[in-house]
Amino acid sequence: MPASAYDRSNIFARILRGELPCRKVYEDPFALAFHDIHPKAAVHVLVIPKGEYVSFVDFTADAPAEMQAGFWRAVAATARALGVEPGFRLAANTGAAGGQVVFHFHVHIVSGPRT
Ligand code: 5GP
Repeated sequence: MPASAYDRSNIFARILRGELPCRKVYEDPFALAFHDIHPKAAVHVLVIPKGEYVSFVDFTADAPAEMQAGFWRAVAATARALGVEPGFRLAANTGAAGGQVVFHFHVHIVSGPRT
């Protein structure tokens, strides 16, 4: 999906606008983090930027430097808030062929035994 095809009705856009609920873990001016609705491990949290970016490729190409730095710091702050700093995995499924289902850029933080 090209960057121009950002769909404002995607689920994460609706969560960002407060139209759908989420189990919030962390929020700051750059990002929102919340528990995945279908956790694949003991800890499975999604971090999304507060901007219209379809994927990792789109975000890293188009987001202003302040937003990119703020987003990755928010990922780290979320890991701290979750208490998973001793060990966790980050994943960003990118493009339909890469397993991306929701086309608002997001990073999965996964830790602990698979569920
Ligand atoms: P993707 O495959 O796009 O990287 O992952 C999308 C993730 O979003 C999946 O792990 C899925 O369980 C999660 N998800 C889909 N819809 C919702 C929702 O409405 N709320 C939350 N919290 N997670 C969702």
